[in-house]
Amino acid sequence: NERDLRLRKKYGIHVSGNNVPSPLQSFAELSTRYGCESYLLHNLVKLGFKEPTPIQRQAIPVLLSGREWFGKAPTGSGKTLAFVYPMLMKLKQPSKDGIRTVILCHTRELAAQTTRECKKMAKGSKFLLCICKKKKRIDLSRVEYLVLDESDKLFERSLLEQTDSVVKACSNPSIIRSLFSATLPGFVEDVARTVMHDAVRVIVGDKNA
Ligand code: ADP
Ligand code: MG
Repeated sequence: NERDLRLRKKYGIHVSGNNVPSPLQSFAELSTRYGCESYLLHNLVKLGFKEPTPIQRQAIPVLLSGREWFGKAPTGSGKTLAFVYPMLMKLKQPSKDGIRTVILCHTRELAAQTTRECKKMAKGSKFLLCICKKKKRIDLSRVEYLVLDESDKLFERSLLEQTDSVVKACSNPSIIRSLFSATLPGFVEDVARTVMHDAVRVIVGDKNA
């Protein structure tokens, strides 16, 4: 529709896929459109975030609608919140079902930084967040959301095998997977297209960059 096109144009959001959900006009829509829990809205205010970044405008509604996603947006454009926020919204309440979400990172530093961001966003909830190191044997069969952050790095030859083993271990048939990165090389697109179901593809910024 007209409004969606106008918003996407304004924020440099390029989408492809079936029935891509409308981008957010503002964070306020998280409560008016999606009935977001108040702790999450409160945390946004505390962080001083007033407007969603372009990637957040499009990723949050897509992930909330239960669609798989792959996309790129420049470094520093707020990709972490774009996947953490809808995940926390969808998980609703902590439960004793084991590990429900995995965010795969290619370095310890990124894992630590992402955990810090998650903690800020989850403050006021009782979700348990932790860093798992590689080779730890853990049951991932009930994971509901899998995020591959900086996925271009995760699919480089040196990490491909490890990434693959995590993706395979997340064997829940109704899992929602998403790929975020600053670049989207052909080999990542290929993986996304072969493993994902009815995914939405989103590019923020210059389509040809
Ligand atoms: P990326 O993963 O795209 O490189 P990050 O998720 O690390 O970017 O975010 C970069 C910085 O922007 C972080 O300091 C983060 O707290 C901040 N940030 C995220 N979303 C917003 C927002 N909506 N408004 C203002 N700052 C934001
Ligand atoms: Mg990032």
